Amino acid sequence: MKKNKMTSNLKSLKALSEASRCAEEYISKIRERRVSPSPLDLSELERLNSSLPHKGQEAQQVIAELHHYASPATVASTGGRFFGLVVGGSTPAAMGASILNAAWDQVAVLESSAPSAVYLERIAAQWLLQLLELPEESSVGFTTGSSMANMVCLAAARNHQYEKLGIDLAKKGLAGAPPLRIIVSEESHVTVHKALSILGIGTDQLVKAPCDNQGRVLVGSFPELDETTIVCLQAGNVNSGHFDPFEEIIPRAKAAGAWVHVDGAFGLWAAASPRQRYLTAGVALADSWTVDGHKWLNTPYDCGVAICREARAVHRVMTTQAPYLLSGVQVPPKDMVPEFSRRARGVEVWAAIQEMGCEGVANLVERCCDFARQFADGLANLGFEILNEVVLNQVVASINDESALQQIVGIVQEEGVCWFGTTVWRDRMALRLSVSSWATTAEDITLSLDSIRRAMEQVLEFKE
Ligand SMILES: *Cc1c(COP(=O)(O)O)cnc(C)c1O
Repeated sequence: MKKNKMTSNLKSLKALSEASRCAEEYISKIRERRVSPSPLDLSELERLNSSLPHKGQEAQQVIAELHHYASPATVASTGGRFFGLVVGGSTPAAMGASILNAAWDQVAVLESSAPSAVYLERIAAQWLLQLLELPEESSVGFTTGSSMANMVCLAAARNHQYEKLGIDLAKKGLAGAPPLRIIVSEESHVTVHKALSILGIGTDQLVKAPCDNQGRVLVGSFPELDETTIVCLQAGNVNSGHFDPFEEIIPRAKAAGAWVHVDGAFGLWAAASPRQRYLTAGVALADSWTVDGHKWLNTPYDCGVAICREARAVHRVMTTQAPYLLSGVQVPPKDMVPEFSRRARGVEVWAAIQEMGCEGVANLVERCCDFARQFADGLANLGFEILNEVVLNQVVASINDESALQQIVGIVQEEGVCWFGTTVWRDRMALRLSVSSWATTAEDITLSLDSIRRAMEQVLEFKE
């Protein structure tokens, strides 16, 4: 017993201290290094690709090798100048908590398998509902991301709507069931379509609600609603950052007997800011909501949240035992999400909120919005056309010459001061910036704008 304790504990301790040394070195240099890896960094990855090892290695050595070859080939998303996709960093407490969480290695199936972790997830769940101003009776499930959270909520919506038709999907299955009416926004995120498809709802079944030039569904031409309808709205368009008009659409949809789901992967965080909250007005009237921890709350990957007003609708779909009718948050975690075994990702949500408080979360959201504004103004000064009204953390900007735009983005990515990509917005090729990290500063925006200016000069000079 004693000998075993010595060897197994010692090995873990050595690996941990090596990991901690490497992670510290990584973080201490994150702001000085290139944001995207250099071609050399990428080619060095090959060193990790040996033939399947026959004999093992010391854990410490494994970690050191990982750090040496894989750390340089990361994108510096925790450094403050990565503006691609919608990617947050990781707050200090959340990052630290994820290391402790790894040491605990709890399986968040039941309270008995992960007492403190499940307890912390329940507190985090209540805090999330309060921060986002959503109904306190809602169920909260921690998923890998909004993709899976969308699926959880839409599965609950589907089964609930069929139940009203007297069809118990869990028993009868979809075969032979009449189709539901599924209304998505023309601008719904691709993962909403994916979730619906997994749930047996194909693209031909979707009724698309047309949008205005900011990507908001148009109230006047919203499709007809009935009691078999599921409506998918959006809080935070992935390009423009805009919100559907919840106050106008949701009461109408509810009155018709529709289920309203809101995909708020990052945008729902606007509700945590007194200044930005006007954008989510009416959102709490919906039936279910999706939000990510790993985007704007800046928890580590992976962490999404599936929130559903009628907790039982989720539990009935996700339960892994005989029918029961427990309600509220006392339902075991395995009955709120598709996974049985999973990591206790709510622990990092607890840590991030504990660290920032309501004020800190509001400040994070507002800071990112201010920086997006700073980006937009700077880009406009450089001669860019800003294609979206910048109301949140997203900026979509373009110039008339598409090939020049692509060259500019390529040069900026190669220079490595910052990173962002391109998109197509309302039929126009554009650059797309998302400011979502707690680590971003006003100076980061200035440095990034300087990099864009240099790239522009280079491209336009070359053209002359
Ligand atoms: C990112 C995003 C998703 C998908 O979320 P994941 O966490 O990447 O699974 C869904 N909807 C919107 C609006 C998003 O921005």
